[in-house]
Amino acid sequence: MWVMKVGGGCLRDAHGVRQLVEVLEQAYPDSPRLLVVSAMGKTTNALFQLAEAAGRGDVEHSRAVYEEILRFHRTVVEALFPSAGAEALWSYLAQRYWTPLWQRAQALVHLSEEVGPATDAVLVYGELVSSEIVRAFLEKEGFPAQWMDARRLLITDGSYPEPSVLWAPSQAGVDAQLVPLFRTHKLVITQGYIASDLRRRSVTLGREGSDYSAALFAAMLRAQGLIAWKDVGRLYSADPRTYPDAVPLAQLSYAQAAEMTYYGAQVLHPRSLKPLRDAKIPLYVRSYFEPQAEGTLITDKDAPNLPPIRTQRRDLVLIEVKSESLQPLALDELLEGLTSEGLEVFFMQGGLLKAAFAVKGPYEAVERWKASLSPSCTVQLRQPVQLYTLLYPDATVSLPNGEALYFQRLPDRLHWIAYEG
Ligand code: ASP
Ligand code: MG
Repeated sequence: MWVMKVGGGCLRDAHGVRQLVEVLEQAYPDSPRLLVVSAMGKTTNALFQLAEAAGRGDVEHSRAVYEEILRFHRTVVEALFPSAGAEALWSYLAQRYWTPLWQRAQALVHLSEEVGPATDAVLVYGELVSSEIVRAFLEKEGFPAQWMDARRLLITDGSYPEPSVLWAPSQAGVDAQLVPLFRTHKLVITQGYIASDLRRRSVTLGREGSDYSAALFAAMLRAQGLIAWKDVGRLYSADPRTYPDAVPLAQLSYAQAAEMTYYGAQVLHPRSLKPLRDAKIPLYVRSYFEPQAEGTLITDKDAPNLPPIRTQRRDLVLIEVKSESLQPLALDELLEGLTSEGLEVFFMQGGLLKAAFAVKGPYEAVERWKASLSPSCTVQLRQPVQLYTLLYPDATVSLPNGEALYFQRLPDRLHWIAYEG
């Protein structure tokens, strides 16, 4: 059994959907396979806009966004299917998804609280529609597949915006509803990113969460491996679009990959590595548009001699705290206060009377934290700042010049903070 995940960047247009045929022919065609798909292209962003406009009561704008979402999908469907087939699929999608989507969006107009869960009820349509189009297309191309609603499999505690997956009911769902499908079909298609809570309401797993879904399915199916097909290809020592001298990485451990993603490498959802590590399932990151090309293999083996790896995490708030009473700062209390506000701390540098933290999270939470501090401290906030990290530095790396607000050298890494340029 193999699990394969195909992201929205791969499925950004009809050409991207067609590429699935080559990918499926290339990778383990004789094994049972679970295909986990994301919403097409930027659909999730558009659905957010739809929900946001509806929530503001701006029916006109929400209508325009809704129609744009339909137009985009209609273009893809018309390019993939002959006209009769396109018509039949389109009217199925309209009745089963597009009409309920509009109703869900309109429900937001009248809502006064619980905007988060009501937004999730809109967001799930991206993956639902995408997986239906992919299923119909693959059937036409000679890959008959079963379709499965992932919300029936992955059960969460419903907390917002990143719910915790409840393992026992999810595993039970996978065993009872997913595994039997493989008796009659070698290919099953389901969705990433979407799940439900214990009351069977729709939830989502956090932005870019399809990798996480795929990792959970791989663990629950005890798959031989997970292949994350990426439009950007395998993992590199830096983002090749910004650093042309970036080198490909053949192999990494889960921990090494987790560190890269934590510090901002946008190749994998950071939560996806733990279920794979716990279940000892190898992860292959491979190039969707060049499926014969070598990928990156991630297992529990640390790769020795990694080249310097550069990552960046944008959109952070820099918090500088100063003790005005000449009493040493209680760094542990400051840190605990930040995390209990739900802020993620990516960088800290502490001295006796001064400390700095770079955090991600809602600005209101930073303000709340600031208001709760003792008057003997003063606080300065700067944003947006960017955290640069260089893992495994060697003598060849060039250090930041004047623009760094903070610079930190640790035995196996360098961090610095600068204003976002
Ligand atoms: N479609 C979702 C998003 O754009 C999930 C994913 O792509 O992994 O965030
Ligand atoms: Mg996406």
